[in-house]
Amino acid sequence: MDYFSFLYFQGSRLLGNLTMLDNGELVNGNICHVARTEVKDRLNTNGIKHYSDSLNKRSLWDTWLRSYGLKSKAETAECYHESFILHGYRPTPSSVLYCVKSIFHPTNETLNVWTHLIPFFLMATRHFKFANEIMTERGYTDPLFYPYWFFVLGSVLTFFGSSLAHTFNCLTPGAREACFCCDYGCIAMQCIGLTSCFTFYICPYTCVIPQTGSYHLAYSAIIVGSMLAVPIVCYSRLPHVPCRYVLRIAVYVVLYASLCLPCFYKYSSYTHEPRFKTCGIAMSDESRGNFYELTCIMALSAAVNGLRFPERILPGWFDIVGHSHQIFHVLIAGGLYYQNKFIERALREILGRLDDGTLSVDDLNITWYSAFLFPALNGLIAIILTLVFSVVLCRRQNLKFGKNCQKNKSKKSQ
Ligand SMILES: [Zn+2]
Repeated sequence: MDYFSFLYFQGSRLLGNLTMLDNGELVNGNICHVARTEVKDRLNTNGIKHYSDSLNKRSLWDTWLRSYGLKSKAETAECYHESFILHGYRPTPSSVLYCVKSIFHPTNETLNVWTHLIPFFLMATRHFKFANEIMTERGYTDPLFYPYWFFVLGSVLTFFGSSLAHTFNCLTPGAREACFCCDYGCIAMQCIGLTSCFTFYICPYTCVIPQTGSYHLAYSAIIVGSMLAVPIVCYSRLPHVPCRYVLRIAVYVVLYASLCLPCFYKYSSYTHEPRFKTCGIAMSDESRGNFYELTCIMALSAAVNGLRFPERILPGWFDIVGHSHQIFHVLIAGGLYYQNKFIERALREILGRLDDGTLSVDDLNITWYSAFLFPALNGLIAIILTLVFSVVLCRRQNLKFGKNCQKNKSKKSQ
């Protein structure tokens, strides 16, 4: 018996109006009868008569999902399979209109979309208000704000790109590959923005680890690393790549740990003899707290996503609500909120110090090349790589899917 039927049975048993046959089917319940009638009505309305007829043979949960045209894992092409998710797959190929409609009814992707679409609107509003509040005096295009703008672009793209990817990934098998490649491209942009903000506003590598050479060396390496992450994670989508999930998570963990490393040093062993004036910024307890909060959330999100918890323990129970990818999205949204607070606080402090004369713009080492041209060029290359991989993987997957369909057809005709 599945989760929904089990809950239903237990609840109805308390009311004394439901019995269970040996085959697990629920019968003789008034509530059950009403629910079945509703499901039958919806099946008939949607023209899914076949399922309506076989209602008695199926569990109520499965049938309820089928009333929205959804399929089980066994009926879905392998390229769409998600580990430990057994129900709620959208039919493929689907139309753009169906994809958009599907985010308003239960599927195993619906909450994946909303857990990033809502933060997208909240984050965009917050950035808009913050920019209007602090930039009116110096102007929106002041070089001081270049790193902040990259961060805004990255965080907004991450949420929006992810929502689009989860909405349209059932268009065709190839579109699924393209959607997730674009998702990775957006994450690369987020890493570029975050590296810029950490380096110029909070703590460059040379501030705490002088052996890392010139001021911009480690910064440049991480920006290039963010760009190179795109081909690596896109490549990991190929089926023959060993340990693809581990590789994908490892790339982001290494990248994130590298860009956060100076902050770890700063908050764990700060000497109060800064090499640069910016080293003393964001040293308040609130900033330290924000940094540790965002680090814990990011670590937790990687663990939840990597372990596929909780659906690994109870496959099929969390197909629509509560599976690891939804929890991962919520945690990422929380992490980005703390990142935002952390960077906003640092920027306010910098502006305050510039006003009272204890800091000059030169102390921040912001140059047109390092803070704008270099990250913009790497971002552009990341976008081009994303597009190239999207097209290549999309074509490859669609061709493979077409060949499989032809094979199945010829088998049937024989
Ligand atoms: Zn996602």
